[in-house]
Amino acid sequence: MPNTLLKPIRLAANRPRTLRGTYHVQTWGCQMNEEDSEQLGLHLREIGFEPAESIVDAHVILLNTCSVRRKPEDKAFSMLGELALLKEVRPEIVVGVCGCMAQLRADEIKRRAPFVDFVLGTGDISNVAGLVEEALQTRKFAKRVELPERRGKVVTDLPQRQVDRATKLKAFVPIQYGCDKFCTFCIVPTTRGRERSRPTDEIVDEVRRLVDRGTREITLLGQTVNSYGKNLAEGQVPFSELLWKLSEIDGLLRLRYTSPYPRDFRADLIETIRDCPAVMEHVHLPLQSGNDEVLKAMHRVYTADSYREIVANLRAAVPGIGLSTDIIVGFPGETEEQFEDTLRLVEEVRFDGAFMFIYSPRPGTPAGDMEQLPLHVRKSRMDRLLELQNRISVEKNLEAVGHVFEVLVEGPSPKNRDRLQGYTREFKMMHFDGSETLTGQQVRVRATSAHLWGLNGVIEEN
Ligand code: SF4
Repeated sequence: MPNTLLKPIRLAANRPRTLRGTYHVQTWGCQMNEEDSEQLGLHLREIGFEPAESIVDAHVILLNTCSVRRKPEDKAFSMLGELALLKEVRPEIVVGVCGCMAQLRADEIKRRAPFVDFVLGTGDISNVAGLVEEALQTRKFAKRVELPERRGKVVTDLPQRQVDRATKLKAFVPIQYGCDKFCTFCIVPTTRGRERSRPTDEIVDEVRRLVDRGTREITLLGQTVNSYGKNLAEGQVPFSELLWKLSEIDGLLRLRYTSPYPRDFRADLIETIRDCPAVMEHVHLPLQSGNDEVLKAMHRVYTADSYREIVANLRAAVPGIGLSTDIIVGFPGETEEQFEDTLRLVEEVRFDGAFMFIYSPRPGTPAGDMEQLPLHVRKSRMDRLLELQNRISVEKNLEAVGHVFEVLVEGPSPKNRDRLQGYTREFKMMHFDGSETLTGQQVRVRATSAHLWGLNGVIEEN
């Protein structure tokens, strides 16, 4: 996707016409947004639309936005600025804005981009087909940003999902929407509403359809997946029980999930990781900070010690388990000493990998109204954490050299098509020689060398 549309738009102005009945979805943000974008496309296919070759040829253009930090919002507004030019030369196109920024800033989007045909929030993206048809007929602006609320204990209003999805080796399946944790830096509870779990049977059915079509690895999605199942009409279903149910599906090789919440990480889940062959020996467990005062200010309901205990229990039950995390540096009020607690915990736990973020104030979050640390302080802490974690990641990968790993072959590496690639059960990327015909199979690979991003290896003959 070109980083600006200006040139393609100028070219488009000279091309005869828009490819009617085609759509393009531009996505920013998390896996949940990627998943929503696939759903948006499937709902449009239901009314006869096909994917366009490029955004400037599309009849319907959907921007699926993200509000987790300022940057993706700025990118969406800059693209709207360019689409205004396209709309001038192509008045027949339909432009819709979806996702978290649409949920939060619908009126502002309309004010700053009056040509937008509709704004659709995160609550029910299955409305998209109706909104497109309405826009094509009436050209009247429409706004749909209602968020489904939980009525009492029972969940209602879950989005209507398209489950006849394209065949992929790996697929994401949302099991839960929204979040009840209200971390003070996070906009998600505002943009995606209260926590709502999908009925277990519906999830099992969707996964079975995907596996019947050739999917071999499923990643279950939720803001706090391990608090799944609390508010179901059928009564509480623990997350571990859902994992066991899914593992019984013939043909499903691998189950992953993201992201769990530390406080809800209980013994039954650890035992399931240890005992259930389909569940991968990798956990992505967001830490955010290694200091208890900062965790409290973030409204993260656990302590550094309770986090250490989960890690110790995981490693005792599943030796060699892969562990990754999320960390925010420069949270308002974070002192040098408190930051060093985070460095100490990172040094002690030795994560295989981490997503590390400089704190970004979000309007509409409690932390967004707090006094911010100077940006240079936040940046220098980020540099120190990056240096530490990258050193540890390389050391952990070097420790893996000589060991044999089970790898699900994804196919040729995009960067070097002579090499195959795939992830180990512990979520380490492995590159190795082999025939493309191995794609979709699990092979045993001995690691022969390592680097920051993963391993190189050779297929181990049986
Ligand atoms: S757990 Fe916290 S960080 Fe994660 S989605 Fe919920 S509120 Fe946001």
